[in-house]
Amino acid sequence: MERRKQALELIKKSQKITFLTGAGVSVPSGIPDYRSINGLYHELEHPEYLLSHECLMKEPEKHDQFIKKLYHLEAKPNHIHQKIAQLELSTDKQIEVVTQNIDQLHRKAGSQNLTEFHGSLMECYCLKCKQQVSVSDYLSSSYHENCGGHLRTNVVLYGEALHEKSLGQAISAVENADLIVIVGTSFQVHPFCDLIFYRKANAQVIVVNQEAISLPVAHFFIKGDATDFFQEIMVD
Ligand SMILES: [Zn+2]
Repeated sequence: MERRKQALELIKKSQKITFLTGAGVSVPSGIPDYRSINGLYHELEHPEYLLSHECLMKEPEKHDQFIKKLYHLEAKPNHIHQKIAQLELSTDKQIEVVTQNIDQLHRKAGSQNLTEFHGSLMECYCLKCKQQVSVSDYLSSSYHENCGGHLRTNVVLYGEALHEKSLGQAISAVENADLIVIVGTSFQVHPFCDLIFYRKANAQVIVVNQEAISLPVAHFFIKGDATDFFQEIMVD
């Protein structure tokens, strides 16, 4: 049997599947990887700096200007998000999603067992009084109208610790899985890529990505467009 069919068969027969997703999953929804917009707006600054805790503290305006370009409020979930949500909602499989994406598209598609590993752009709060504010408040002003404090998203910035709850959830999601499907990520960002070390010894791994990734475990590699592959997944 060819590899693609074997991978589809594995998804069909596995009961506990955990999807680990990255930027490539949001690209078909029109959301570019932030690294690609860097050249357009900030030729002199690295996106890693603009998205760092250091930048938020030292040059908050620069941080805000960059992070506000990452909002794509019009973006809708695509076939990949939808198929993953259908597997969870319309079958008796136990599905978990751990995403690096901060766009909430998995949530919009209906995924329930979801860990947003790096937080989300859609939750904002005041650094001074900690009160939550709406996204539209943050997008219209970076300062809290009640107290004048600086507003921020709950995205985990470079130099910040992961949210403890997310880390715990992500580890359990990987520990419990019979099958791990890595989609649309080069799988190089730590500690996200280290999650693979928590898998069960006999867990199977599928990688769906444009390029091969370096992974310390045997896996089925499906090269190419994840949308095509996900359209072939049957939901009974
Ligand atoms: Zn405030």
